[in-house]
Amino acid sequence: MKIICIGRNYSDHAKEMNAALPEKPMFFMKPDVALLQHNAPFYYPDFSKDIHYECELVVRINKQGKHIDEKFANRYYDQIGLGIDFTARDLQQECKEKGHPWEIAKSFEGSAVISDQFIPVDQLDRSNIEFSLFQNDKQVQSGTSKDMIFQIDQLIAYISRFMTLKTGDLIYTGTPAGVGPIAIGDVLVGKIGDQEMFRVEIK
Ligand code: MG
Repeated sequence: MKIICIGRNYSDHAKEMNAALPEKPMFFMKPDVALLQHNAPFYYPDFSKDIHYECELVVRINKQGKHIDEKFANRYYDQIGLGIDFTARDLQQECKEKGHPWEIAKSFEGSAVISDQFIPVDQLDRSNIEFSLFQNDKQVQSGTSKDMIFQIDQLIAYISRFMTLKTGDLIYTGTPAGVGPIAIGDVLVGKIGDQEMFRVEIK
C-alpha cells in the first residue's frame, strides 16, 4: 500500500509556513513502516529536535484506478479517517534550503499516525468535515474540508494521473494552520466532529 500526503492544501497553513499557494496539488509519499496504528506511542527520534504535528483528514482508497476523472473520484473511497503527518521541521528546513528531497523529514518510521476507525462518507457532509487536534487537552488545530484548496475528488484525479491508486492506499489531505512542536510526555488526541479518532502519547 501507498501513503500519499498532500502539502499546502490549506491557505492558512501555507501562510504560517511563508509558502506560496500551490497552483496544483503537491504530494509526497511515506513508506508503509511510517504507519502508527492502534494508538501506539510515538517515540521521539534522535535525529531531530523539532518534530511537529500536522493533523489531517485521511482518505482510504477502496478501488483500483488510474486516470480517474474528477467527477467519478467519489466512487474510489467511502471512508474517512484522521491522522498526523509528523514532520521533522529542522530537517525539512535543511532539505528545502539545499533543494533535497523531504524523505528524512517526513517519511521516517512512525511518522504517519492513523486512526483505527474510519467513518463512512455517507455519515459525513463531505464538503464540511470538521476535525481538530488537542495537545494535552488544549485545542491546537481545527479545520474543515471546506477550506481545502484542492478537494478530495480533485486530489484523487490528480494523483491518479501519475500512479495507479490501489485498494488500501491512504491519502493524507493536508493540514490546517496551528502546526507546532511536540515534546516527550505530550498526549495528542484527534477528533472528527466530537468523535475521538486517535490518542497518541509521545515517549
Ligand atoms: Mg502534512
